[in-house]
Amino acid sequence: DHRDLHSFPTRRSSDLRALERQEFELHFQPQIDVATEAIIGAEILLRWHSPTDGTVSPLLFIPILEESGLIIPVGSWLIHHACRQIRAWLDQGLPRLEFSLNISALQFHRGYLVETVREALQRNRLEPELLCLEVTESLIMDDIEQTLSIMEQLVELGVSLSIDDFGTGYSSLSYLRRMPIHELKIDRSFIVNIPAEPNANALVDTILGMATCLNLRVVAEGVENQAQRDYLAAKRCDRIQGYYYAKPAPAEQFANLLRKIGRA
Ligand code: C2E
Ligand code: MG
Ligand code: MG
Repeated sequence: DHRDLHSFPTRRSSDLRALERQEFELHFQPQIDVATEAIIGAEILLRWHSPTDGTVSPLLFIPILEESGLIIPVGSWLIHHACRQIRAWLDQGLPRLEFSLNISALQFHRGYLVETVREALQRNRLEPELLCLEVTESLIMDDIEQTLSIMEQLVELGVSLSIDDFGTGYSSLSYLRRMPIHELKIDRSFIVNIPAEPNANALVDTILGMATCLNLRVVAEGVENQAQRDYLAAKRCDRIQGYYYAKPAPAEQFANLLRKIGRA
């Protein structure tokens, strides 16, 4: 349940000690390989269980964390925590997946992101190929030269990069060409009207065609039904993420899903 958008920020901004109180939790949503229908990755999504407000949507609390600068320690905690979890699962014999993390603009530009990622990978003896960092178009356009430089350092480190909510922002295609990006995520707002609406289909086809030409992987977000899945499969979209397969779930539930599938 999403609380009142207007009263929320002022009431909460001074009271975000959630990190110390361990009110944050990671949820995991599988990404499915369209060709094989296997789970090949998962997006990690932050949840906040507030003692007073219950579970608060990241669409509400992420902007507050950004404004207050708290997104930097929270984001760094998230990267370390995620890597610890991935290491634990590998040690338990769960399959190797690629995990996607959302990186906020402030964390990207001011948060010692490269150092944090490097340290989290080293500390948990993880190969960088296991991590994919999702950034948004507006983050890229904030400061293009700095974005390019940080992206190059991240790619040097071995992690891959994805543009989240692709098509909803204002990124310039000429910069896109220069960025060391591996993946585009087609925003749910494009997926929701396929295959019934020809214009929606045309946009999805265009993004897929462009990605093929630029040699980029494509993940479709927010896939909720078989008709959408079938359309995307016919158009050779690489990966699908959405309620049709699974909702984001806490670590233990996600691990159980992997174990169940592993046995099948
Ligand atoms: P996003 O990164 O684009 O994540 C996808 C959102 O779509 C998630 O919402 C996910 O639960 C939702 N979703 C996935 N499949 C479906 C579907 O089939 N139907 C519908 N209706 N929704 C679906 P969520 O978890 O509420 O996150 C919202 C946004 O908050 C994220 O959008 C991301 O921008 C931000 N966010 C979440 N976790 C983090 C984080 O750790 N760090 C940062 N910086 N931002 C985060
Ligand atoms: Mg995302
Ligand atoms: Mg998205």
